[in-house]
Amino acid sequence: MRHRIAVVGAGPAGLTLARVLHRHGHPVTVFERDPAPDARPPGGTLDLHAGLGQLALDKAGLLAEFRTLSRPEGQAMRILDTDGTVLRDWRPRPGDEANPEIDRGQLRDLLLGPLDVQWGRGVAEVVPQTHDDGALVRFEDGRQEAYDLVIGADGAWSRVRPAVSSVTPHYTGVTAVETSLDDVDARHPELARLIGDGSLAVYGVNRGLVAQRNSGGHVKVYAQFRVPQDWHRDLDLPDVDSTRSRLLALFDGWAAPVLELLRRGTAFAPRPLYVLPVSHTWAHAPGVTLLGDAAHLMPPLGAGANLAMLEGAELAEAVAARPEDLDKAVRVFEEQMWARAGRWAEMTTAGLERLVSPDPAQALALFDEVQPS
Ligand SMILES: Cc1cc2nc3c(=O)[nH]c(=O)nc-3n(C[C@H](O)[C@H](O)[C@H](O)COP(=O)(O)OP(=O)(O)OC[C@H]3O[C@@H](n4cnc5c(N)ncnc54)[C@H](O)[C@@H]3O)c2cc1C
Repeated sequence: MRHRIAVVGAGPAGLTLARVLHRHGHPVTVFERDPAPDARPPGGTLDLHAGLGQLALDKAGLLAEFRTLSRPEGQAMRILDTDGTVLRDWRPRPGDEANPEIDRGQLRDLLLGPLDVQWGRGVAEVVPQTHDDGALVRFEDGRQEAYDLVIGADGAWSRVRPAVSSVTPHYTGVTAVETSLDDVDARHPELARLIGDGSLAVYGVNRGLVAQRNSGGHVKVYAQFRVPQDWHRDLDLPDVDSTRSRLLALFDGWAAPVLELLRRGTAFAPRPLYVLPVSHTWAHAPGVTLLGDAAHLMPPLGAGANLAMLEGAELAEAVAARPEDLDKAVRVFEEQMWARAGRWAEMTTAGLERLVSPDPAQALALFDEVQPS
């Protein structure tokens, strides 16, 4: 039995779902708002955990290829205090594949493979059908199509979510501002040495500065701090120097080599951090479900993409294993997703409180709790 299945969103959740369905020979249509895979910068590096993102790639038959692309050395983590003293300098042992890093763009291309994504097809809303178990997809261009199952993998500001839940994301109190450095080894060798092979993090009072190596000498830098939700609204982003000055003022007194991470950044992008309530669930609605950030947006502490991918793989396997009862397959999947995502949302919410906290010792303590010695 072949159901008509639509996936909204070609992020880690939607692509993993589609790729595993494809592996099981089940047709699926992916609708993505972006006009092309490379329409916007793909974002920073992701660490894929052995029991989450890597397990999902295994289910998609892509683990071997992932290992050729990923960067196990990128697991390295160095923590400094605000005067530049190295507090921790953790490096993975040879053969440690617990959480290797991969560029988002590489992961997207790996997952895309043979999939036929319909780019430039933004979804405006999804309407569950009362007369049968399907749902109607209404597109931003006014067209509409009916499916047996519509899966909302469309991220934080999901247009599918309102079909099952009235909940919307709320601000965490923390804003991140992203900047980046290119060709760091050749152009900024002293910063390359400071960052090392993986990530560098510096925590102060209600502030953090994190630098993460991507492939090809690209480094993403995230300044994080507690400010009101609309703090970024009066930034004049095209005026890079004035934005930089605003940021540097927030990190006044920090060691000069650390502040170079902001001084060398060429453009700044504010990202206020939003979350859905911990343990967000909904009354099951036949014909529609959610996964990934659309279902459980949480603080960016290394879990979101991992969960999104594993959920995608698990939902695909559930559909493939129980074609005679699609609705039951979705119900069982939802219960499993809610339980696991609830635990991670609790951990990452508590984690953000400790990482960007009045007591920087909390950040170090958190690192010591989660990092293998
Ligand atoms: C700074 C930062 C660092 C992070 N680091 C990590 C990390 O190291 N490890 C980790 O596991 N997670 C990390 N995360 C979290 C991770 O990025 C997300 O949890 C993950 O991308 C969620 O995947 P998703 O597929 O659910 O949603 P998304 O990645 O948001 O993808 C949703 C897709 O849907 C498309 N879309 C949106 N609306 C529509 C619409 N109406 N119609 C059609 N298409 C639509 C979007 O264009 C997008 O392609 C980080 C997040 C941030 C902000």
